[in-house]
Parts: sequence; structure tokens; C-alpha cells
Amino acid sequence: MFWITLVIGLAGTAVTLALAGRRVMFLYAIARSGQPDPERVLQVKRDKKGDVEGQVTEVLGQRKLLKWSVAGAAHAAVMWAFFLLATVYLEAAVALLFGLDKHIPGLQTWAPIGFVQDTIALACALGLAVFTAIRIKNSPKRIGRKSRFKGSHLSGAWITLFMIFNVIWTMFFFRGLERASGNLDYGKGAYFSYAVGHLFDGLSHDTLEVLESVGLLAHIAVALIFLVFVVHSKHLHIFLAPLNVMFKRRPDGLGAVQPMMSDGKPLDFEEADPDEDVFGRGKIEDFTWKGFLDMATCTECGRCQSQCPAWNTGKPLSPKMVILELRDHALAKAPYFTASEEQREKFTDEQKAAMQVDRALVADDGVIHPDVLWSCTNCGACVEQCPVDIEHIDHILDMRRFQVMIESSFPSEAGVMLKNLENKGNPWGMSETKRLDWISELDFEVEVVDDKLSEDTEYLFWVGCAGALEDRAKKTTKAVAELLHIAGVKFAVLGPMEACTGDPARRLGMEFVFQMLVQQNVETLNDAGAKKIVATCPHCFNTLANEYPQLGGTYEVVHHTQLLAHLVEEGRLTPVAPIEENITYHDPCFLGRHNKVYKQPRDIMATVPGVKTKEMHRHKDRGFCCGAGGARMWMEERIGKRINTERVDEALATDPDTVSTACPFCLVMLGDAINEKKNEGAAKETLEVVDVSQLLIRSIKGEGTAPAKEPVAAE
Ligand code: SF4
Ligand code: SF4
Repeated sequence: MFWITLVIGLAGTAVTLALAGRRVMFLYAIARSGQPDPERVLQVKRDKKGDVEGQVTEVLGQRKLLKWSVAGAAHAAVMWAFFLLATVYLEAAVALLFGLDKHIPGLQTWAPIGFVQDTIALACALGLAVFTAIRIKNSPKRIGRKSRFKGSHLSGAWITLFMIFNVIWTMFFFRGLERASGNLDYGKGAYFSYAVGHLFDGLSHDTLEVLESVGLLAHIAVALIFLVFVVHSKHLHIFLAPLNVMFKRRPDGLGAVQPMMSDGKPLDFEEADPDEDVFGRGKIEDFTWKGFLDMATCTECGRCQSQCPAWNTGKPLSPKMVILELRDHALAKAPYFTASEEQREKFTDEQKAAMQVDRALVADDGVIHPDVLWSCTNCGACVEQCPVDIEHIDHILDMRRFQVMIESSFPSEAGVMLKNLENKGNPWGMSETKRLDWISELDFEVEVVDDKLSEDTEYLFWVGCAGALEDRAKKTTKAVAELLHIAGVKFAVLGPMEACTGDPARRLGMEFVFQMLVQQNVETLNDAGAKKIVATCPHCFNTLANEYPQLGGTYEVVHHTQLLAHLVEEGRLTPVAPIEENITYHDPCFLGRHNKVYKQPRDIMATVPGVKTKEMHRHKDRGFCCGAGGARMWMEERIGKRINTERVDEALATDPDTVSTACPFCLVMLGDAINEKKNEGAAKETLEVVDVSQLLIRSIKGEGTAPAKEPVAAE
């Protein structure tokens, strides 16, 4: 029996390893053909602490998955079973190679190991039951588009669950027989295997030997078949997730947009050649090896899709499906783009058609539909949620870059914005002198830089285009200026010398205009001697703090909520008049998710007497976009429900007197939606949206909605 078992076991192992190996070589060839991305490798070498932290918290600790408590706990159980039950497979290999009664010396007799193995296997079985329930409850057939699994390869997921189930039952079957024939040395430590063994009490020695061999081969066969399946399916993430976490952008794929690269170096437009250099991604071969790694690592869990504001309002964009479409196309085209020139010439037209050789990357009948590409608000919810750190925004922006700079194909409305940026330095095309208008409405002097900042000026107040030119945003600008004045913070503004930071151009994909604006602003800021900058617009804040260093502009940048919260804490600003209102706060994506500023705006509101805050059900890192990011502010929203309307519906569910936020774009988008609701009679006439700085100044200036309490006299 030993020799029969050994021959079957070894033959099966050889065949399956050959099949799996062939697939791994194919996948490796795809990754090798990707464009270089040396920074990914360098940062791994530089940041050893980050490497370890990523593996410990995200891979072993399942940090992101555990944010979804039930599904996360189930996944943690299955993942830990994957690691721990490898020891059972080690034992199985020893039994196969040396005989059923042979054990790893000193190890296979230690009861706690048997206990851990049985316990994690049972936890895994429970996890499978939870996954099954989740998949049935969230079946796309049942709840359609609301399902996070809509668009995922569903049969592959069911096969995966079935295969893991097979691993578990064959393990207990084999170990039960081991116990019945006296070959399980863990004793009652392996309590469940021990109990299963009782099912075989009374069978003869010969029968037990045959059954035990069958159990051993079945347990090994399941693993080998599963291995072949894994390398051909989304379950590849078992092996790739640790790699993807290791090579992710540090600290994450949010905040700064990646600069355009050429040959692994940042692209210099003055020396760039569109025929030689890769301007974004125009075909699948243009993606870097990290892009291919992202595609291969996607688990199809749909967490990104469930949070995407575009998907949630009926648009065709799902971040998950973007990754899956790219992956499917890469797999189809790989035999072509990994082949040599000579081999390519031998492909027939039919073969080329099957390999999608001529399929456009972005087109109506392409891999990605233009409506998908232009629906993205860059809100970052997908990147934030993805348990394996896929960087969707980078891929979307890279494809936009090609469409804008090479194909000149983008929503026409955005073209007006681009022209205005080039000619007037702001998206609305207004005269630069208008940037000073808000100052004339203040009753104190503001320093306007015409050469250098004064010696004692602490902050350069970056007003931003909206803050200077848009009426609603100007209220925030004036409130912040007044608050800084009251707190005794010396600040100056650039006035007409300030130009757009370039954020809308960059997020649209027009890197050339972005670089042009950055160079202009960096020169102005450096000439003025600016060191510390405060910005009211989270888009300006993000761009100045995270993207300007890519092009030589390094400053200490804070958002106004950070500075104001600090001034309140220091006692330099003291809210006094109560504002007896129910207020719900909307997290701007570029302040919250992209820069993790969640606390300070809330801290400011908490210091205003009388304010009662109530969170919307989507808030902080799960906050829902207002619809303006990713240059969407300058595009029509023609498909599905408007994102700002969806967000205001969520705000109305908290029955607020006021909606607060900390971004001029959010202020405009939410304000528009609130006005529509008022016209429909769905919102109270007094409802308004304000920046948290406006709440603060009202309270400080005694303009609350209730009389200020008399100060308590000191004893
Ligand atoms: S960044 Fe936001 S809008 Fe864009 S795909 Fe991700 S979740 Fe959707
Ligand atoms: S991209 Fe990430 S979050 Fe989205 S389905 Fe894939 S693994 Fe899940």
C-alpha cells in the first residue's frame, strides 16, 4: 500500500506542479514586460520599518479587512488557517514519503500543536459558512447593482470556497483515520480529529490502512488541484497580496499624484518626445510592472466598488471593474506583447483578434469606456478600502494623461477650464486683479506681497482660486483672515501673483499645464521667501504639501482647520456665543482620506458652545464625495443621480440646521444641492452649508443663535 500511495502521490504532485509552474512563468513574463518603476524598489530598500509594518498590520493583522468586522473576522480565520494548516501538509508529506506511521520527531507528539491545528481548521470552516451567507445575502441576482460582488467572477469565488471546504474535511477525515489506526500522536490535543476518529472504531487494521491512504491522497490532491486553480484565478492574491503591500506607495496611494515617468525617471517636458516617451497609458503594455501586479492581486471583493460615489449614483465606473477589465485584457494580449518581434510576425489575423491586439485601451468599444474614465472624482475611497492596496487613481490618471495629451480626447467643458488656466491662471478665466476684491470687504489691512514677505510675517495665506473668486468660498476666506487677525497671526497673501496650483489640470490628465503652473508658483513663492503656508482649499493644500516637492517647491503647509484648531487650543481664539444648532460635518475627500485630517474640523466645532453634531452614516475614511474632485467640478454630470444630491440626501437624514464642511468645492456642490432640495420643499428654508471657520467666527464675534452666557465671575 505504501508504494502505491507514494507513486500516485508523487505523480500527481509532478503533474500539478508542472501545470502551476507553467502558469507562474506566464504571469512572470507579463510582469517583466511592464515599464520600469525603480522608485518602488528603492523605497522598499529605504524603508525597512515600513516594509515590516505593512506585512504585520495589513497582511498578518488584516487591518483593512477587519474594518468590515464580520467579513474581516471570517477572512482572518481563513487566512490564518492557510498559514497554520501548512503544518498539516508538512505532516502529510512525511506520511506520504516515509509511511503512515512516520512523524516529524519531537513535533508531532506535542498536544498544543494538534489543538491549534484543529481549532484553526474549525474556525476556517466557520469562516466559510460566514462567507457563504454573505455571498447569498449580497448576491447580485438578489440586490443587483447594490451588491459589491456585481461584476466579480462569481463562479470562481464559489469554487474557491468549495476547495477550502475540501481542504478542511479531508484533513479531519485523514486525521480521524490516523487516530483510529493509532497514528495520531497528538492524543486528545487534536480534540476534533480525535472525536472524528471514533466514527471509524471497529474497522479492521487492513481497512483502516487503505482508508488512511485514501484520506492522505485526497487531502494532498485537494491542495494540488487548489494550487493549479489558485494560479489561474483571483485567488492568486494569496501569494501576491504581501508583494503588493510591500511595493505600494508609502504611506499609501492617496495624497500626491505620481509624476509622469520616462525610463524610470520623472519626465521633463522640455526634453520630452511624444514619439519616444510614454505619455500616460495608451495601451496595456504601457503599464508598469506594479500596474500588472495590481491587476493580478485584485481579490474581486468589491469593497472599492461599494464605496465609489460614481458607482453608487448609477454611473458606469466601478474601480473594481476597471482593474478587472485591464487584467482580462492584459491576460488576453500577453501572448502577443511578451513575444519576440519574430514570433509576432507569425501570428495569424485570427490569433491577433483573439489576443485583442488592436483593441483600444480607452474607446467606446475599448477596454475602458470614456464614460468610465471621466466619471472618477479621485475621491480615494477605492484606494482607502482596498485590502490589498491597489492604486486605482494612479491607473485612472495615467489613462487620462494619454487621452488628454496625446489623443486630445476629453469632455469639452473641461477644455474651457484648461484654456482659462493657461491664459488667466484660474479655472474661471477671471482677471487676476479680482483676486484682491475680498480684501476690500474687510475692516483691517492685509499684507499683499509685491516682492518679499515682511520679516515678521508667519504665514503665507494661499487663498486659492475659489477662495478669491467664488462668492460662497470668499466667505470662508474672509472668516479665516479675520480669525488669524484676531489671534494675532501675521499673514500675507500673494493677490494677483497667485495662480491656480494646477490641481484641476493634473487631475484631468494635463500634466503639461500642471507643470507650467507649478513652475510659475514655485518661482513666486521662493522669491517671496515663503516657508509656511496656510490654505483653505484642501485641493490647494494637498497639491502644495504633497505634489509641489516633486517639482522643487518644499514648504510647511497646513490646512486652515489645522491652524485654527491649534489657535483655539492655545487659547488665542475663544468661541463664546452659543450656536444652538444641529450640525452635520461633511469630510472633504482631499482633506480627510487624502491627508487624514478628520479630527481638527470636529475639534473646532466641539469648542463652539451649543453646537450639537451628528455624523452622517458615511463619514471620516468612509466619507462620501461631493462630486467635485478629479476635475469633475468642470465637467457636466449627465449620467445617473448627481453625487452632490446623494450626499445632501444623507445629510438631510440627520435633520440638520446647518451642514458644515472645510472645502470651497464642497461648499459650492453641497450648496447647489441644498438649494435644489429647498426648491423641491425637501429641505428647510433656513438650512445652509458653511465652512467650520464661519461657525467659529460667528461664535467668537458673538453672532451665535442664542445669547452668550454671562461669564462666571472668578471667586
Ligand atoms: S477615486 Fe473615488 S470616484 Fe474614482 S474610482 Fe475611486 S472611489 Fe470611484
Ligand atoms: S481593487 Fe481592491 S477593493 Fe477592489 S475588488 Fe479588487 S481587491 Fe477588492
